[in-house]
Amino acid sequence: MQFQYDVLIIGAGSAGLSAALTLGRCLRRVLLADGGPPRNEASPGVHGFLTRDGIPPAELLRLGQEQLQQYTTVEMQCLEINEVIPLEKGFRASGCLTTDDTPVSITARRVLLATGVLDVLPPLPGFRELWGRGVLHCPYCHGWEVRNQPLAVYGQGRIVTGLALLVSRWSHDVVVVTNGPGHLTQNARRRLRRQHIKIREEHITRLIGSATDDLECIEFADGSQLERKALFLHASQYQRSSLAEKLGARHTSKGAVWVNSGMQTSVPGLYAAGDTTPGAQQALLAAAAGSRAAIVINEALTREECPR
Ligand SMILES: Cc1cc2nc3c(=O)[nH]c(=O)nc-3n(C[C@H](O)[C@H](O)[C@H](O)COP(=O)(O)OP(=O)(O)OC[C@H]3O[C@@H](n4cnc5c(N)ncnc54)[C@H](O)[C@@H]3O)c2cc1C
Repeated sequence: MQFQYDVLIIGAGSAGLSAALTLGRCLRRVLLADGGPPRNEASPGVHGFLTRDGIPPAELLRLGQEQLQQYTTVEMQCLEINEVIPLEKGFRASGCLTTDDTPVSITARRVLLATGVLDVLPPLPGFRELWGRGVLHCPYCHGWEVRNQPLAVYGQGRIVTGLALLVSRWSHDVVVVTNGPGHLTQNARRRLRRQHIKIREEHITRLIGSATDDLECIEFADGSQLERKALFLHASQYQRSSLAEKLGARHTSKGAVWVNSGMQTSVPGLYAAGDTTPGAQQALLAAAAGSRAAIVINEALTREECPR
């Protein structure tokens, strides 16, 4: 069978763009399907990305797209893929152009999922509105910007304990806010106390932000307010795309798409990279994973083309 593309990359964030760059440099026929904005769309800047520290997320992707232009075997489409069907040796995928809903169907020898995740925020006023500015997901990405300022860490149990201890690296004024019973063990309370981290277990009614979407204070059910510059939380998350699930690919207990050491999912020929897979989630790591997946895929295709 003649395939239209060597590789279909689904998702054009850091992982997908980086994979497209490496595969383009291998002269591979690639379709890069860009289904919409990246996970960090709400953030003013991507931090910790070597040579691009603080760049707006959209600008990082624009540069990535611009640098792909010289690789003429790489095609990028504003295309949301909604189905991938395994064939005997490859895949058929279908979706719609996001510009005008035109249906598209293509075939590819390999598929790389770089579809990322979505964050689920507590359903309280202010969390979604201040997401990415006053409500932050990761001190490695944003701790420096709010260093030495009054900070809050939201959550319960072991997760909030670990995150609060981590955040105390960036500020000596950290308060854990649990929005009801914190489910903290005596040991957790002791460890927090040792770092001078206070605990507020009252219910939260809302977060109040400034005109620039910085956090100003947390308001509790009794009307009292706690002034804070930012609030960190480990948001729960789910896969942005259900394609891996529909294909029957194995997932980890935390909901990530499982991959082997060669970045292949449990479905032969289907690879995954970036936030969608287990491990630390950062733009630079996603870009590195995309590049690594591209190398592995190119080598698998080369083996197929050059049988022993
Ligand atoms: C608020 C916030 C701030 C952050 N700040 C930083 C930071 O400062 N530094 C840092 O290193 N990291 C930061 N991160 C983490 C960073 O955003 C992610 O690690 C990174 O975006 C992962 O890249 P990715 O390519 O795996 O996924 P994404 O960037 O999320 O890209 C996935 C892409 O796949 C597309 N897609 C999904 N499904 C389909 C489909 N069916 N068809 C076609 N396309 C599809 C999506 O539209 C999206 O464009 C931040 C995250 C958040 C939430």
